Amino acid sequence: MNPDIRNLTNSARQDDWAPLLRQAAMAPGKHWADGARCVGENPEFFVLPSDDMTQNPDYVRHAEGEAARRSLRICSACPLPVAARCLVDSLKHDERHGIRAGLLAAEREGLRKAWSRRIDPAAVSAVLSGTYKPLGKHERREVIARFAGDRSLDPEVVARGLGVPRDYLLKLARMHRKKHGMEVPSSVSSSPAG
Ligand code: SF4
Repeated sequence: MNPDIRNLTNSARQDDWAPLLRQAAMAPGKHWADGARCVGENPEFFVLPSDDMTQNPDYVRHAEGEAARRSLRICSACPLPVAARCLVDSLKHDERHGIRAGLLAAEREGLRKAWSRRIDPAAVSAVLSGTYKPLGKHERREVIARFAGDRSLDPEVVARGLGVPRDYLLKLARMHRKKHGMEVPSSVSSSPAG
């Protein structure tokens, strides 16, 4: 693996995603993959039959032999921002197959789980302000918890940001308050749906 990508992923594994995200942001827009080293290669070379998130990476490397080494060599020559973007996109889309940024799917499992636990304060704030963002499971829970406990938040606005109907958001908030023994904020308790 490219040592620079290794440093970025090591930081991410310690819950510091900023260096990886900074690099990924340097390959912006729809054409971020134009400079990728895998352009023109057969995409099947990057999806190896035995490479699975449940597998031991050493087993996959051994089982796939030269096919794995070839694809990983191509990735290691990929420009750093492109490789970082490739990896971040795979995490955002919860991709469980295929080589990305010189990492087998089997080697990305820890990162994938860590990403799903990650809470991006900017994304949570944006959703609470009514701007739709795709959120991870934990970020979504954070939005619901904040909404359930803050009577100043407008259900219409938060529902729009979350991409759900208002009534469904109110139901989620009720369930959250019940589960956590929270009191109902007064403005919500006075509403018919609160
Ligand atoms: S890092 Fe991603 S974009 Fe670059 S060569 Fe590998 S698979 Fe292609």
